[in-house]
Amino acid sequence: MTRLLTLEGVTLAYGNVVVCEDITFHVDHGEVVTLIGSNGAGKTTTMSAVAGLLPTRSGRITFDGVDITSMPPHLRVRLGLSLVPEGRHVFPFMSVRENLLLGGFRFKSSPKEAASAVAEVLDRFPALARRANANAGTLSGGEQQMLAVGRATMSRPKLICLDEPSMGLGPLIVAEIFSIINEISAQGTTVLFVEQNAQYALRTAHRGYVLQTGRVIASGTSEELRHDQRVKDAYLGKVRA
Ligand code: ATP
Repeated sequence: MTRLLTLEGVTLAYGNVVVCEDITFHVDHGEVVTLIGSNGAGKTTTMSAVAGLLPTRSGRITFDGVDITSMPPHLRVRLGLSLVPEGRHVFPFMSVRENLLLGGFRFKSSPKEAASAVAEVLDRFPALARRANANAGTLSGGEQQMLAVGRATMSRPKLICLDEPSMGLGPLIVAEIFSIINEISAQGTTVLFVEQNAQYALRTAHRGYVLQTGRVIASGTSEELRHDQRVKDAYLGKVRA
C-alpha cells in the first residue's frame, strides 16, 4: 500500500487556544480509516485542517506525495481531496441537480463532463434521482447526507473525507450511509471519516485512530480497537465483539 494522506506532528489552534497537538496519522490508498473520539476531542478541527479550512500551526500534511500544509482548500480539491462537512451544508433552495453541479466546479469548462458526473451520482443514488429537480431543503436528513456525499464525489476525488456522517440520523439511515461508504470504497475511492458513533465506525473502517482532548491516544485495526480495553472503557460502552 502507498501513503495517500499523512499528518505529521500537526498542531491546530483557534486564536491562542491550541486544541490539537502532535496529531500524527496516515491513510493509505484504498483504505477506509476512521478517527473516533468523544465530543470536543478535536475530530472536526482535524478534518478542517485536512481540507485546508483551518491553518496548520505546526507540523506537516502531505497528500499524494505533495506537501499541502499551506495549500488553499480549492487546490486540495483539484489534487483529489474532497470533504463532506459536518451538518451536510446542502443549498436548500437549489435543486438536487444544481447542488451536485456545484460539487463538479472543476468541470466548469466542460458541461458534458459535468453532466456525465451528475448522471453517475444519480445512478448510484436512486433516491436522489427520483428527486433530482426538487429543492434540496425538501429532502429528508438521510437524503441530504446522500446528496452531500454525492456532491463530494462529483470532483472524482482520490480521498473523500466525511465529518460525522451519522450525525442526527436514525439507525436505519445511518446503516444506509455506512453501506454507501463501503460502496464508495469498493469503487476505488479512499475514505477518511470522523465519528462519535464508534461502534458503526469500527464496523466500517479497516483501521482507526482514537482522539482524546486533541491527541491521538490509540490506533490499530478496527478489530484491535474494538477489543482495546482503554477504548472500550472510554468510547464504546458495550461493544459486540
Ligand atoms: P464534536 O463531535 O462535538 O464536533 P469534535 O471532536 O469534532 O467534537 P471539535 O469540534 O474539533 O471536536 O472541537 C475541539 C475543541 O476545539 C473543543 O474544545 C471545542 O470547544 C474547540 N473549538 C471548536 N471550534 C472552535 C472555534 N471555532 N473556536 C474556538 N474553539 C473551538
